[in-house]
Amino acid sequence: MTEALYYQDPRLARTSARMASVARVASEASEAPDGASADGSATEGWIVELDRTIFYPEGGGQPADRGTIGGLAVTDVRKEGQRILHTVAGKPGGDEVDCRLDWPRRWDFMQQHTGQHLLSSVLAARCGAATVSIHLGDEVSTIEVDREALADGDLAAVEDRAAELIAADLPVTSRWVDDAELAALALRRPTQRRGSVRIVEIGDVDRVACGGLHVARTAEVQLVRLARVERIRGRLRTHWKIGRRALLDYRVRARIVDTLGEELSAPPDGVAGAVAELRGRLDGQDKALEAAARRIARSQAAALVAGARLHGARRIVTAAFEGEAPDFLRRVGQELASEAGLARLAGLAGLAFCLTNHAGGRLQWVMGADAKAGPQIAGLLPRLLATVDGRGGGKPPLWQGIASRPGGVGELLTAFEAACIDAP
Ligand SMILES: [Zn+2]
Repeated sequence: MTEALYYQDPRLARTSARMASVARVASEASEAPDGASADGSATEGWIVELDRTIFYPEGGGQPADRGTIGGLAVTDVRKEGQRILHTVAGKPGGDEVDCRLDWPRRWDFMQQHTGQHLLSSVLAARCGAATVSIHLGDEVSTIEVDREALADGDLAAVEDRAAELIAADLPVTSRWVDDAELAALALRRPTQRRGSVRIVEIGDVDRVACGGLHVARTAEVQLVRLARVERIRGRLRTHWKIGRRALLDYRVRARIVDTLGEELSAPPDGVAGAVAELRGRLDGQDKALEAAARRIARSQAAALVAGARLHGARRIVTAAFEGEAPDFLRRVGQELASEAGLARLAGLAGLAFCLTNHAGGRLQWVMGADAKAGPQIAGLLPRLLATVDGRGGGKPPLWQGIASRPGGVGELLTAFEAACIDAP
């Protein structure tokens, strides 16, 4: 049996203890579910048992403590019957070992746990919402309640009431009771436990059975802030920032709002409106830019068609652009492709085109021809692309891609024109 010093004094962060047993974690433990914790962290190192411990084992929604035993990292702590087993990164030397808690982490979880009791109590008293499950995570603490929804006003009232109870600096106390005492107590949440049961009370506002660790007074919870709510399986899961986490969260958010406010020349409560206005303006500009790009591509395509070389019943367009945006060549290609289709419908000479654009060290190409009246691009493609080490693809009436040899552009355009003239 290990003496649980954390119950006698939850603030004891350092002590010495006697080694009761030490054993190497068997390597096959990584496959054995009973030898591993949920995150698998118990599968490495040594299992150390002490005569007494300040390390809280995982339980009641509160995670296991961290720290060092004999200077070696404690990676997990769990309870097996009356024994508390520590997973340690190495084998501590000597009979007597120095034990140190990761105190900031423990304090954080004591704040989380006490804040959770306080919030569960207020959710029940103010909203009639009973706590179904809790999770104390590394980022947020969650409380799931037996309600599908709560109004924003109710949630704000819960936050306000919790702040009042924190300011009231109520004592948080624990005691052990037997079955007879337990039967006489009204608990916020009924317990199935019998024998010796640990009761945790916050002033006269909350009483539950709990084996976890808590701060001594509600003022030590500092602050609670609702982060968000989500609906899960017809229940409401509330996410909370509690204690110093809430303070840091406010600080980060305040800085973000201040920075945005300076950027936007807006007061804090005007930032959201300024962003919406900016977004509306950007959307309008995107549309105007899109329309302008379409007009430019159309007039560029018209100029190319006007300068096309006529060979029999076929008009041929070739051009090498420099420094244009990739989007430009794609748009001009699309305009020419639709022109190629329209030409046949109008009984005009068929249109075939090959364009390149060399910009930012990148060579881009588009080719096209009417599927019925033009040369069969698909068949010509491998030979044409070989001139520029190109790759890409498409289907009638448009093909496009990139290439890695800009020096071959002249050869590509000449080969394209020759192929169009030769094509039946
Ligand atoms: Zn508790």
